[in-house]
Amino acid sequence: MSPSVPAYKRVIAIDGPAASGKSSVARKLAQKLEFVYVNSGAMYRALTWHVLQCGVDPHDQAAVAALVEATRFETDLLDQESRILIEGTDPSIHLREVRVNESVSLVSRVPRVRAVLVGRMRAYAMQDDVVMEGRDIGSVVFPHTSYKFYIDASHAIRSQRRAAQGQTDQIALRDEVDSSRSDSPLTVAADAHVVDSSILSIDEVVSEILRCLRARNFSVEAKQVGSCRSVSSQ
Ligand code: C5P
Repeated sequence: MSPSVPAYKRVIAIDGPAASGKSSVARKLAQKLEFVYVNSGAMYRALTWHVLQCGVDPHDQAAVAALVEATRFETDLLDQESRILIEGTDPSIHLREVRVNESVSLVSRVPRVRAVLVGRMRAYAMQDDVVMEGRDIGSVVFPHTSYKFYIDASHAIRSQRRAAQGQTDQIALRDEVDSSRSDSPLTVAADAHVVDSSILSIDEVVSEILRCLRARNFSVEAKQVGSCRSVSSQ
């Protein structure tokens, strides 16, 4: 690691568009490796929920930035997964609301919002080995990590997945805004390993990632207190 890179623990970056399956994959991978699972999208969703609760127009970038500056929020861990509290409240049950789906890309394009949250994401990796999912984890948040994955799937499959989850989510629109913003757009990092999950199960994608990690000399061994257990790739 170069001297200018902070002393991060191991970081596995998993990026991809909406409904590509990256959350399920990242959580399962983290459980297998006994790494902390960080869902960066949930952080952007939580601030978006707060913006809406406060009656701020998500299109108004200056107002969104000012609100986020004035907001007290904590990031911590619950059961080895990232959690964000806004003004002491856990907004988890609101994060998949239609209004949040509709506004999250507007809020997350605001540079001040990104700067604030990226600091928290990096703080997680100072404390623990992490599997972190998002849009810019490999390209911007942890460009130094050797373990970058980009999970993709066809638009038709991704739409089907959202529908099966009973969610109203205009994923094409979100992808468009997320990919075209000037600050940290959704992109495939040059050194990312791309996995198309269209016809793969979650377990198959996790196996593919573990195979690739081994090929990159990553020790695929879970941390266990008092013993050392190899992690099966299945
Ligand atoms: O991953 P998820 O679909 O929950 O992310 C919700 C939204 O949060 C994305 O559409 C994107 O606008 C934003 N996001 C982001 N950067 C990340 C993670 C999520 O801009 N690293």
